[in-house]
Amino acid sequence: MHHGTIHLVGAGPGDPDLLTLRAARLIAEARTIVHDGLVDAAILALASPDARLISVAKRRSHHTMPQDDINALLVAEALAGRDVVRLKGGDPFVFGRGGEELEAARAAGVRCEVTPGISAATGAAAAAGIALTHRDAASVLTFVAGQCKGLSDQDWTGLAGKGRTLVIYMGVKTAAQIAEKLMADGLAPDMPLAVIENACRPEMRVLRGPLAALPDMVERHAVISPALIVIGDVTAREDSVLATLALEAAA
Ligand code: SAH
Repeated sequence: MHHGTIHLVGAGPGDPDLLTLRAARLIAEARTIVHDGLVDAAILALASPDARLISVAKRRSHHTMPQDDINALLVAEALAGRDVVRLKGGDPFVFGRGGEELEAARAAGVRCEVTPGISAATGAAAAAGIALTHRDAASVLTFVAGQCKGLSDQDWTGLAGKGRTLVIYMGVKTAAQIAEKLMADGLAPDMPLAVIENACRPEMRVLRGPLAALPDMVERHAVISPALIVIGDVTAREDSVLATLALEAAA
């Protein structure tokens, strides 16, 4: 029997305008879409009215569907001869578990194609006017995952500091541990940072402050997921601060 294809598709950080043309086409043509919780309703609205939308929404601490079950679902759809669009926030291969889904497809002998998306880091940086690299300020850029699991085992030494930009995904809940970890590694307490919540969505917020103030900032402003923490001198450059002020004035 003819197998379907699994498309791992990046939906970008929120704004439907930031979809690739290929992602938009695959969504519009899909009969079956399996999506996670980060995919914006405005993007799901681009699907055909008779498409089957299956949510496998994952929220920190209560996983609706375990990853193995998601893999099995995708493979079962494809083995039944149906093409399936697996739609993910941002890029499928940046903290998106796309690697596991690709491997599951390969193991089952099912064709799997990947459509990249704009990851939260590049989307948020653009929206907040923060150049992640800058000839005068940063030539090293690192993405890390800040969730509890394994946080204390991870070696972040040297990832943040002068000439470097560190972007932390999934770090809101662990902001206090993150600040402590980085300062214990020798990062200056006054190293500038920005927290960007709901980037590329109408409700986006950008907060700025020194590293030592991160836990307080997150608590006082009740920062919620999804948000990114960007650490480094690039977040304090005048142009980027002015861009945020302009954004706030326009809101
Ligand atoms: N594959 C996704 C990342 C998934 S991990 C990507 O490439 O962007 C989920 C984390 O991504 C969130 O906890 C948050 O840190 C970040 N994130 C996703 N969308 C975001 C948004 N619109 N604004 C800020 N952070 C976002």
